[in-house]
Amino acid sequence: MRCPFCGNIDTQVKDSRPAEDHVSIRRRRFCPACGGRFTTYERVQLRDLVVIKSNGRREDFDRDKLERSIRIAMQKRPVDPERIDQMISGIVRRLESMGETDIPSKQIGEIVMEALARIDTVAYVRFASVYKNFQAADDFDRFVSELRPDAAAEK
Ligand SMILES: [Zn+2]
Repeated sequence: MRCPFCGNIDTQVKDSRPAEDHVSIRRRRFCPACGGRFTTYERVQLRDLVVIKSNGRREDFDRDKLERSIRIAMQKRPVDPERIDQMISGIVRRLESMGETDIPSKQIGEIVMEALARIDTVAYVRFASVYKNFQAADDFDRFVSELRPDAAAEK
């Protein structure tokens, strides 16, 4: 990083730490040529996020696509649309702050399921059933039982 005071290219990082918002890294730099000190911020850019699909293919992260899948899972559920928006923003922020720009689709799916599980059990099961490719009905039943151990015990 070029020194803003003297133009020297060979500056040193003295200290790196997460900024308060935890989506950026704050670096304090020192220029040995002129003694100047300055600060830079390193931040993940959403447009650079790449999804690695299970078949190994890569594609640019698409927030709209994520939003569509979540809205399908949330269809007709009694959840405030504003809350859904907040959840989606929260998921995207989490992805942005992971530090990696290449994110396996599996990991995104798990983050979405975690978020859905906190908001609405039915939406979570809908999403998970598609996501985990539960093909046999008994698998699906077992999955729901595992999700709600109390309900299973009452049977
Ligand atoms: Zn300098």
